Amino acid sequence: MLTDSHAHLDDARFAADRDELIQRAWDAGVRRILTIGNGTGPDDMGCGIPYAQSHNWIFTSVGIHPHDASKAEDRHFQMMETLAEHPRVLAIGETGLDYHYDNSPRDVQRQVFERQLELAGRLRLPVIVHTREADDDTGRILQAAAPVDGVLHCFTSSAHLAEVALRLGFLISFSGIVTFPNARDLADIARSVPADRLLVETDCPYLAPVPHRGKRNEPAFVAETAKFVADLRGITIEELADVTTRNFTRLFSPPETA
Ligand SMILES: [Zn+2]
Ligand SMILES: [Zn+2]
Repeated sequence: MLTDSHAHLDDARFAADRDELIQRAWDAGVRRILTIGNGTGPDDMGCGIPYAQSHNWIFTSVGIHPHDASKAEDRHFQMMETLAEHPRVLAIGETGLDYHYDNSPRDVQRQVFERQLELAGRLRLPVIVHTREADDDTGRILQAAAPVDGVLHCFTSSAHLAEVALRLGFLISFSGIVTFPNARDLADIARSVPADRLLVETDCPYLAPVPHRGKRNEPAFVAETAKFVADLRGITIEELADVTTRNFTRLFSPPETA
């Protein structure tokens, strides 16, 4: 039973064959997908709810991506709080800091991140954190926000940020990037993260793992990342699938599924 802990099923690139790719995920052994509620911007944060409502093994979140932080208004935090009550919404996010693209000013990214952490803490929901080239601020803000549970998704940061996150009780999720031949440091971290803190994800439609690298990604391909991480850790893909699904269940408390 594989879990794709982070997908963007609402993406326009899936418009033509979304039903087929959801079926392909099931056929590949995927039994949990968390589809992220960012959409095309804050007004669209409920974008994952229709998919989560029509499939009892798909769940969603609501949040404002750091790219869109400058579009966040007070009413969006109100919307987030209201949508978070929906039974298919399991988390706040993705939220965080992206100093690589800097699509929103950094001070605005930090404010919008802190506000979502505050909301997650108050609602007792886990938070899905996106962080890129922002290790120091991410670590500092997460430490100040504690206690909040969550995951650092699509992890590409330093071993130091991994340590900080693990100390705070966070999970660490690896995407197809870990399968890339030049990602040796990342592979070392994926090998050493404690088993009870590990997740895998696609972040589709982006970042397809080897051997699909460069193509559109989809949830079925989480099997490639799971196999790669299992090999790194010297366990079977079934064991990796079991442990990541257990970790997902513990963090996100999904309602019972078939
Ligand atoms: Zn992200
Ligand atoms: Zn994402």
